[in-house]
Amino acid sequence: TQSKIDHRTVSIYDSKITSKIKNDYCILNNIREAVEKNELRLVYHPKIDIVKNRIVGAEALLRWDNHKNINIAEMIEVSENVGYITDISKAVIDIVIKQMEEWKKEGMEIKVAINISPLDLMNDVLYDHLVERFKKSTVKPEMLELEITERNTYREEDKVLDMLNKLKKLGLGITMDDFGTGFNSLKYILKFPIDTIKIDKYFIDTVEDNNTKNVIEGINNTARQTGMVVIAEGVETKSQIQALENIGCRIIQGYYFSKPLNPESFKEYYNEYGHSETKTENANCVLS
Ligand code: C2E
Ligand code: MG
Ligand code: MG
Ligand code: MG
Repeated sequence: TQSKIDHRTVSIYDSKITSKIKNDYCILNNIREAVEKNELRLVYHPKIDIVKNRIVGAEALLRWDNHKNINIAEMIEVSENVGYITDISKAVIDIVIKQMEEWKKEGMEIKVAINISPLDLMNDVLYDHLVERFKKSTVKPEMLELEITERNTYREEDKVLDMLNKLKKLGLGITMDDFGTGFNSLKYILKFPIDTIKIDKYFIDTVEDNNTKNVIEGINNTARQTGMVVIAEGVETKSQIQALENIGCRIIQGYYFSKPLNPESFKEYYNEYGHSETKTENANCVLS
Protein backbone atom coordinates (compact mmCIF):
# COMPACT_ATOMS: atom_id res chain seq x y z
CA THR A 1 0.00 0.00 0.00
CA GLN A 2 1.20 3.44 -0.85
CA SER A 3 1.66 5.93 1.93
CA LYS A 4 0.01 9.30 1.67
CA ILE A 5 2.27 12.12 0.59
CA ASP A 6 2.67 14.82 3.18
CA HIS A 7 2.03 17.94 1.15
CA ARG A 8 3.53 20.20 3.76
CA THR A 9 6.87 18.40 3.62
CA VAL A 10 6.80 18.36 -0.14
CA SER A 11 6.24 22.08 -0.42
CA ILE A 12 8.95 22.90 2.12
CA TYR A 13 11.32 20.62 0.24
CA ASP A 14 10.19 22.22 -2.97
CA SER A 15 10.85 25.75 -1.84
CA LYS A 16 14.24 24.70 -0.51
CA ILE A 17 15.16 23.38 -3.94
CA THR A 18 13.82 26.51 -5.60
CA SER A 19 15.85 28.78 -3.38
CA LYS A 20 18.93 26.62 -3.90
CA ILE A 21 18.49 26.93 -7.64
CA LYS A 22 17.99 30.70 -7.34
CA ASN A 23 21.13 30.94 -5.23
CA ASP A 24 23.10 28.81 -7.70
CA TYR A 25 22.06 31.03 -10.57
CA CYS A 26 22.98 34.11 -8.59
CA ILE A 27 26.45 32.66 -8.00
CA LEU A 28 26.62 31.64 -11.65
CA ASN A 29 25.98 35.21 -12.82
CA ASN A 30 28.88 36.36 -10.69
CA ILE A 31 31.13 33.59 -11.95
CA ARG A 32 30.27 34.33 -15.55
CA GLU A 33 31.07 37.97 -15.01
CA ALA A 34 34.37 37.02 -13.37
CA VAL A 35 35.34 34.82 -16.33
CA GLU A 36 34.36 37.49 -18.86
CA LYS A 37 36.20 40.23 -17.01
CA ASN A 38 39.27 38.01 -16.46
CA GLU A 39 38.95 38.25 -12.72
CA LEU A 40 39.91 34.67 -12.06
CA ARG A 41 43.50 33.98 -11.19
CA LEU A 42 45.58 30.96 -10.38
CA VAL A 43 47.95 30.21 -7.56
CA TYR A 44 50.61 27.52 -7.84
CA HIS A 45 51.32 24.87 -5.24
CA PRO A 46 54.80 23.32 -5.43
CA LYS A 47 55.29 19.56 -5.71
CA ILE A 48 58.59 18.58 -4.17
CA ASP A 49 60.75 15.50 -4.62
CA ILE A 50 62.21 15.00 -1.15
CA VAL A 51 64.92 12.65 -2.37
CA LYS A 52 66.31 14.97 -5.00
CA ASN A 53 65.21 17.94 -2.93
CA ARG A 54 63.81 19.83 -5.84
CA ILE A 55 60.58 21.16 -7.22
CA VAL A 56 59.18 18.79 -9.79
CA GLY A 57 55.93 20.50 -10.62
CA ALA A 58 53.07 22.67 -9.51
CA GLU A 59 49.33 22.39 -9.13
CA ALA A 60 47.37 25.39 -10.36
CA LEU A 61 44.49 26.31 -8.07
CA LEU A 62 41.75 28.75 -8.83
CA ARG A 63 41.27 31.94 -6.82
CA TRP A 64 38.55 34.51 -7.08
CA ASP A 65 39.43 37.59 -5.09
CA ASN A 66 36.19 39.53 -5.48
CA HIS A 67 34.19 36.85 -3.75
CA LYS A 68 36.23 35.57 -0.86
CA ASN A 69 33.04 34.36 0.83
CA ILE A 70 32.40 31.80 -1.88
CA ASN A 71 34.93 29.02 -1.58
CA ILE A 72 36.38 27.48 -4.69
CA ALA A 73 34.90 24.05 -4.10
CA GLU A 74 31.42 25.62 -3.88
CA MET A 75 32.02 27.63 -7.00
CA ILE A 76 33.06 24.50 -8.87
CA GLU A 77 30.03 22.59 -7.63
CA VAL A 78 27.63 25.32 -8.72
CA SER A 79 29.32 25.53 -12.12
CA GLU A 80 28.92 21.78 -12.52
CA ASN A 81 25.25 21.91 -11.53
CA VAL A 82 24.37 24.59 -14.04
CA GLY A 83 26.51 23.30 -16.90
CA TYR A 84 29.11 26.07 -16.80
CA ILE A 85 32.10 24.07 -15.60
CA THR A 86 33.77 23.58 -18.98
CA ASP A 87 33.84 27.35 -19.50
CA ILE A 88 35.73 27.61 -16.22
CA SER A 89 38.10 24.82 -17.22
CA LYS A 90 38.75 26.52 -20.56
CA ALA A 91 39.49 29.80 -18.78
CA VAL A 92 41.87 28.00 -16.43
CA ILE A 93 43.67 26.39 -19.39
CA ASP A 94 44.11 29.78 -21.05
CA ILE A 95 45.51 31.36 -17.89
CA VAL A 96 47.87 28.46 -17.19
CA ILE A 97 49.25 28.16 -20.71
CA LYS A 98 49.83 31.90 -20.88
CA GLN A 99 51.66 31.70 -17.56
CA MET A 100 53.78 28.76 -18.72
CA GLU A 101 54.67 30.63 -21.91
CA GLU A 102 55.79 33.60 -19.85
CA TRP A 103 57.82 31.41 -17.48
CA LYS A 104 59.37 29.61 -20.42
CA LYS A 105 60.51 32.94 -21.88
CA GLU A 106 62.11 33.69 -18.53
CA GLY A 107 63.87 30.34 -18.57
CA MET A 108 61.65 28.42 -16.22
CA GLU A 109 60.11 25.24 -17.56
CA ILE A 110 57.97 23.31 -15.17
CA LYS A 111 55.14 20.81 -15.33
CA VAL A 112 51.84 22.24 -14.19
CA ALA A 113 48.70 20.33 -13.24
CA ILE A 114 45.19 21.72 -13.46
CA ASN A 115 42.02 20.33 -11.96
CA ILE A 116 39.24 19.41 -14.30
CA SER A 117 35.72 18.14 -13.73
CA PRO A 118 34.42 14.69 -14.71
CA LEU A 119 31.87 16.59 -16.80
CA ASP A 120 34.69 18.00 -18.95
CA LEU A 121 35.34 14.47 -20.15
CA MET A 122 31.83 13.82 -21.41
CA ASN A 123 32.21 15.66 -24.73
CA ASP A 124 34.86 17.11 -27.05
CA VAL A 125 34.63 20.75 -25.98
CA LEU A 126 37.57 20.77 -23.58
CA TYR A 127 39.62 18.44 -25.77
CA ASP A 128 39.13 20.65 -28.85
CA HIS A 129 40.07 23.70 -26.81
CA LEU A 130 43.31 22.04 -25.69
CA VAL A 131 44.18 21.02 -29.25
CA GLU A 132 43.62 24.56 -30.52
CA ARG A 133 45.45 26.15 -27.63
CA PHE A 134 48.53 23.94 -27.95
CA LYS A 135 48.63 24.48 -31.73
CA LYS A 136 49.59 28.09 -31.16
CA SER A 137 51.71 27.67 -28.06
CA THR A 138 55.42 27.28 -27.40
CA VAL A 139 54.44 25.05 -24.49
CA LYS A 140 54.22 21.32 -25.13
CA PRO A 141 51.17 19.29 -24.06
CA GLU A 142 53.60 17.02 -22.19
CA MET A 143 54.11 19.85 -19.70
CA LEU A 144 50.44 19.89 -18.68
CA GLU A 145 48.75 17.40 -16.39
CA LEU A 146 45.07 16.99 -15.78
CA GLU A 147 43.95 16.11 -12.28
CA ILE A 148 40.69 14.22 -12.33
CA THR A 149 38.88 13.63 -9.11
CA GLU A 150 37.36 10.36 -8.14
CA ARG A 151 34.93 11.93 -5.69
CA ASN A 152 32.17 11.84 -8.26
CA THR A 153 31.29 8.56 -9.84
CA TYR A 154 31.77 8.43 -13.55
CA ARG A 155 28.45 7.56 -15.15
CA GLU A 156 29.67 6.70 -18.58
CA GLU A 157 32.98 5.09 -17.90
CA ASP A 158 33.72 3.93 -21.44
CA LYS A 159 33.19 7.42 -22.77
CA VAL A 160 35.54 8.76 -20.09
CA LEU A 161 38.09 6.09 -20.96
CA ASP A 162 38.02 7.06 -24.65
CA MET A 163 38.45 10.73 -23.80
CA LEU A 164 41.32 10.07 -21.40
CA ASN A 165 43.06 8.00 -24.08
CA LYS A 166 42.64 10.87 -26.55
CA LEU A 167 44.09 13.34 -24.05
CA LYS A 168 47.02 11.04 -23.36
CA LYS A 169 47.63 10.67 -27.06
CA LEU A 170 47.82 14.44 -27.28
CA GLY A 171 50.64 14.18 -24.73
CA LEU A 172 48.97 15.27 -21.50
CA GLY A 173 49.51 13.54 -18.18
CA ILE A 174 46.56 12.18 -16.21
CA THR A 175 46.50 12.29 -12.42
CA MET A 176 43.94 10.63 -10.18
CA ASP A 177 43.24 13.22 -7.48
CA ASP A 178 41.89 12.60 -3.97
CA PHE A 179 42.87 8.96 -4.27
CA GLY A 180 41.20 6.66 -1.78
CA THR A 181 38.21 8.84 -0.96
CA GLY A 182 35.81 7.52 -3.60
CA PHE A 183 34.10 4.19 -4.02
CA ASN A 184 36.02 3.19 -7.12
CA SER A 185 39.65 4.05 -6.44
CA LEU A 186 41.11 0.72 -7.45
CA LYS A 187 38.80 0.16 -10.34
CA TYR A 188 39.67 3.53 -11.86
CA ILE A 189 43.43 3.15 -11.61
CA LEU A 190 43.12 -0.20 -13.36
CA LYS A 191 40.69 1.00 -16.00
CA PHE A 192 41.86 4.53 -16.80
CA PRO A 193 45.27 5.52 -18.24
CA ILE A 194 46.56 7.09 -15.03
CA ASP A 195 50.17 8.31 -14.75
CA THR A 196 50.04 9.67 -11.23
CA ILE A 197 47.96 9.14 -8.15
CA LYS A 198 47.56 11.71 -5.44
CA ILE A 199 46.91 10.29 -2.03
CA ASP A 200 44.30 12.42 -0.33
CA LYS A 201 45.08 14.54 2.71
CA TYR A 202 42.64 12.38 4.67
CA PHE A 203 45.22 9.57 4.71
CA ILE A 204 48.21 11.86 5.16
CA ASP A 205 46.66 13.26 8.34
CA THR A 206 47.17 9.90 10.04
CA VAL A 207 50.21 8.67 8.13
CA GLU A 208 52.06 8.20 11.41
CA ASP A 209 49.58 5.53 12.55
CA ASN A 210 50.66 2.03 11.67
CA ASN A 211 47.47 1.06 9.85
CA THR A 212 47.51 4.10 7.60
CA LYS A 213 51.23 3.70 7.07
CA ASN A 214 50.69 0.14 5.83
CA VAL A 215 47.90 1.18 3.50
CA ILE A 216 49.93 4.01 1.97
CA GLU A 217 52.97 1.78 1.66
CA GLY A 218 50.81 -0.76 -0.19
CA ILE A 219 49.47 1.88 -2.55
CA ASN A 220 52.96 3.23 -3.14
CA ASN A 221 54.43 -0.18 -3.94
CA THR A 222 51.54 -1.16 -6.20
CA ALA A 223 51.72 2.14 -8.03
CA ARG A 224 55.45 1.90 -8.56
CA GLN A 225 55.18 -1.63 -9.90
CA THR A 226 52.66 -0.45 -12.46
CA GLY A 227 54.77 2.58 -13.38
CA MET A 228 52.68 5.22 -11.68
CA VAL A 229 54.02 8.15 -9.70
CA VAL A 230 52.61 8.74 -6.22
CA ILE A 231 52.11 12.17 -4.69
CA ALA A 232 51.25 12.74 -1.03
CA GLU A 233 48.93 15.72 -0.72
CA GLY A 234 48.29 17.88 2.32
CA VAL A 235 51.55 17.26 4.16
CA GLU A 236 51.87 19.70 7.02
CA THR A 237 54.47 18.41 9.47
CA LYS A 238 58.03 17.20 9.55
CA SER A 239 57.02 13.91 11.17
CA GLN A 240 54.59 13.23 8.33
CA ILE A 241 57.43 13.78 5.89
CA GLN A 242 59.60 11.37 7.84
CA ALA A 243 56.88 8.72 7.83
CA LEU A 244 56.42 9.16 4.08
CA GLU A 245 60.15 9.01 3.51
CA ASN A 246 60.33 5.70 5.40
CA ILE A 247 57.58 4.30 3.20
CA GLY A 248 59.40 5.45 0.08
CA CYS A 249 56.85 8.04 -0.95
CA ARG A 250 58.97 10.85 -2.27
CA ILE A 251 56.80 13.44 -4.02
CA ILE A 252 55.19 15.78 -1.53
CA GLN A 253 52.71 18.60 -1.81
CA GLY A 254 51.64 20.49 1.27
CA TYR A 255 51.73 23.49 3.53
CA TYR A 256 54.84 22.08 5.21
CA PHE A 257 56.81 23.38 2.26
CA SER A 258 54.60 26.20 1.11
CA LYS A 259 51.08 27.51 0.69
CA PRO A 260 49.95 27.90 -2.92
CA LEU A 261 51.79 30.91 -4.33
CA ASN A 262 51.03 33.64 -6.83
CA PRO A 263 53.10 33.41 -10.04
CA GLU A 264 55.78 35.87 -8.89
CA SER A 265 56.25 34.20 -5.53
CA PHE A 266 56.23 30.78 -7.13
CA LYS A 267 59.09 31.77 -9.40
CA GLU A 268 61.05 33.18 -6.48
CA TYR A 269 60.44 30.00 -4.52
CA TYR A 270 61.52 27.92 -7.49
CA ASN A 271 64.73 29.89 -7.90
CA GLU A 272 65.48 29.75 -4.20
CA TYR A 273 64.54 26.17 -3.63
CA GLY A 274 66.50 24.66 -6.25
CA HIS A 275 65.63 22.82 -9.30
CA SER A 276 69.17 21.54 -9.16
CA GLU A 277 69.79 17.83 -9.07
CA THR A 278 71.92 18.07 -5.98
CA LYS A 279 70.71 18.21 -2.43
CA THR A 280 70.89 21.63 -0.94
CA GLU A 281 70.48 22.87 2.59
CA ASN A 282 67.06 24.42 2.70
CA ALA A 283 65.23 25.94 5.58
CA ASN A 284 62.30 23.64 5.27
CA CYS A 285 63.67 20.53 3.72
CA VAL A 286 64.36 17.75 6.15
CA LEU A 287 66.67 15.68 4.03
CA SER A 288 69.75 17.79 4.30
P1 C2E B 1 42.41 19.54 -4.75
O1 C2E B 1 42.57 19.50 -6.23
O2 C2E B 1 42.49 18.25 -4.04
O3 C2E B 1 43.51 20.57 -4.25
C1 C2E B 1 44.16 20.47 -3.03
C2 C2E B 1 43.57 21.42 -2.01
O4 C2E B 1 44.18 21.15 -0.76
C3 C2E B 1 43.83 22.90 -2.30
O5 C2E B 1 42.75 23.65 -1.73
C4 C2E B 1 45.11 23.14 -1.53
O6 C2E B 1 45.34 24.49 -1.20
C5 C2E B 1 44.84 22.31 -0.30
N1 C2E B 1 46.07 21.88 0.37
C6 C2E B 1 47.24 21.45 -0.17
N2 C2E B 1 48.14 21.14 0.79
C7 C2E B 1 47.54 21.39 1.97
C8 C2E B 1 47.97 21.27 3.34
O7 C2E B 1 49.08 20.88 3.66
N3 C2E B 1 47.06 21.60 4.30
C9 C2E B 1 45.80 22.04 3.98
N4 C2E B 1 44.98 22.35 4.98
N5 C2E B 1 45.37 22.16 2.70
C10 C2E B 1 46.23 21.84 1.71
P2 C2E B 1 41.90 24.70 -2.58
O8 C2E B 1 42.82 25.56 -3.40
O9 C2E B 1 40.97 25.38 -1.63
O10 C2E B 1 41.08 23.82 -3.57
C11 C2E B 1 40.05 22.99 -3.13
C12 C2E B 1 39.52 22.13 -4.25
O11 C2E B 1 38.83 22.94 -5.21
C13 C2E B 1 40.60 21.39 -5.04
O12 C2E B 1 41.01 20.22 -4.36
C14 C2E B 1 39.87 21.11 -6.33
O13 C2E B 1 39.05 19.97 -6.20
C15 C2E B 1 38.99 22.34 -6.48
N6 C2E B 1 39.64 23.28 -7.42
C16 C2E B 1 40.55 24.24 -7.18
N7 C2E B 1 40.88 24.90 -8.32
C17 C2E B 1 40.16 24.30 -9.30
C18 C2E B 1 40.04 24.50 -10.73
O14 C2E B 1 40.71 25.34 -11.35
N8 C2E B 1 39.15 23.68 -11.40
C19 C2E B 1 38.41 22.72 -10.76
N9 C2E B 1 37.56 21.94 -11.50
N10 C2E B 1 38.52 22.49 -9.44
C20 C2E B 1 39.37 23.28 -8.72
MG1 MG C 1 43.95 18.66 -7.43
MG1 MG D 1 43.30 16.41 -3.97
MG1 MG E 1 41.00 17.56 -2.12
